[in-house]
Amino acid sequence: MINYDVIITGAGPAGLFTAISCSNEGASVSLLEKNTSAGRKLLVSGSGKCNITHAGLLDEFLTHYWDAEKFITPELSNFMNLDLQKFFEKRGLPMVEMDNGKIFPASLRSADVLSVLLGECMKRGVDITYGHAVREISLSNSRFIVSTDHDTYSAAYAVVATGGISYPATGSSGDGYRFAENLGHKIMPLSPALTPVYIKGWRFGACSGISLSEAEINLYREGRSIVRAKGDVLFTHKGLSGPGILDMSRNLRPGDIIKISLISSSFRCMGNDVDIEEKFIHQLRGHGSKSLKNCMAEIGLPVTLAETLLECLSISGRIKGASVDKGTRRIILNSLLGHPFEVERAGGFNEAMATRGGISLENINRKTMESRLVPGLYFAGEVMDVDGDTGGYNLQHAFSSAALAGRSISVSMSKRKSPQSKL
Ligand SMILES: Cc1cc2nc3c(=O)[nH]c(=O)nc-3n(C[C@H](O)[C@H](O)[C@H](O)COP(=O)(O)OP(=O)(O)OC[C@H]3O[C@@H](n4cnc5c(N)ncnc54)[C@H](O)[C@@H]3O)c2cc1C
Repeated sequence: MINYDVIITGAGPAGLFTAISCSNEGASVSLLEKNTSAGRKLLVSGSGKCNITHAGLLDEFLTHYWDAEKFITPELSNFMNLDLQKFFEKRGLPMVEMDNGKIFPASLRSADVLSVLLGECMKRGVDITYGHAVREISLSNSRFIVSTDHDTYSAAYAVVATGGISYPATGSSGDGYRFAENLGHKIMPLSPALTPVYIKGWRFGACSGISLSEAEINLYREGRSIVRAKGDVLFTHKGLSGPGILDMSRNLRPGDIIKISLISSSFRCMGNDVDIEEKFIHQLRGHGSKSLKNCMAEIGLPVTLAETLLECLSISGRIKGASVDKGTRRIILNSLLGHPFEVERAGGFNEAMATRGGISLENINRKTMESRLVPGLYFAGEVMDVDGDTGGYNLQHAFSSAALAGRSISVSMSKRKSPQSKL
């Protein structure tokens, strides 16, 4: 039996940062990782560039976590985006803000983020053991017994930071759910989040690579509007992707209809707001000898998208603008402002960047990240029932929950060491 103060399972960003955050007071900390190296998912994050967090103030930031907003308020209040940036900047890795407020390491290399985390763990004397998959976490005489295929460990505190179940090849294959369930915790149903979406009878393959900026996205189920959002949409060979679709994907079921605006409903022209219908009519009438598809291109639609859309609507793109009657114009406009796509399915866990569901937040004290059922057991990162939007929100949650778990463990340890300090 190998003894430590704290044993953390999983050396992803959450596990590494918990280790850093609780090793301040000279605690002995062991980090057990099943892979032969740390942070495999972190390395592929942001296409290897690592979109580590997002700019913005707390109130706005919180709106990117769906139902978990209340739960994550304390962790973000304790350790927010600026704290995270400062942590890396102090250790020689400056951060840079890119498009739409996304924050990246200035080197645009996730390997540099991992290297700072590993360097800090080493400085603080954290023992990281690779190639040790934890098989079971149990309790005996108020100590946690953590078993791997090779050894058995014992500790006063245990942290589960095993991640979700998406991209399982990176190591996060859902083991933490089993550990938590065996210790009495409820696991909320798991499904893929931040995943591309497959569309029934997909006819827009030729538009692959076309991206719509800040499109209106409306999700309908059985004729009722379920979710409305705005975001960038990307056409792919197989269906839809891009931040607006990825964020929405956690809510999708086969048969749902996603209506997407292919063009903005109004635009600025010489200081005035001009309605898209007005602009379209102006094109059709004023340049009536032009083909319909060219008139559509003139109002801002990429030509391939105009051609594909007209094909779907069984309208010839070659007819002259002037010959388009009111009924046809209405059909085209309706489609431009909200073309319906029927969901075949959302992508699976192999394609998903996050997991919806996980350890029930009811079982976790949001002010400490400690289990409400098993004192001394803590959780950090994606293993909990929290999933954020694209844009750096998931990594920020991994770091913030870890900072709070680590701090809470340090406070608890110092109380245990000097109980008279309570007086
Ligand atoms: C392709 C992709 C791109 C992404 N890009 C971004 C991005 O740019 N910005 C962003 O905010 N988020 C991004 N994410 C999401 C983000 O990477 C995760 O939310 C984050 O890594 C979760 O951190 P974690 O430490 O909780 O879990 P993980 O990073 O999954 O780490 C868990 C660790 O636990 C280990 N482990 C699991 N089970 C055991 C066991 N039984 N014993 C020992 N070790 C175990 C795993 O091997 C792994 O190392 C992306 C995800 C993917 C898949």
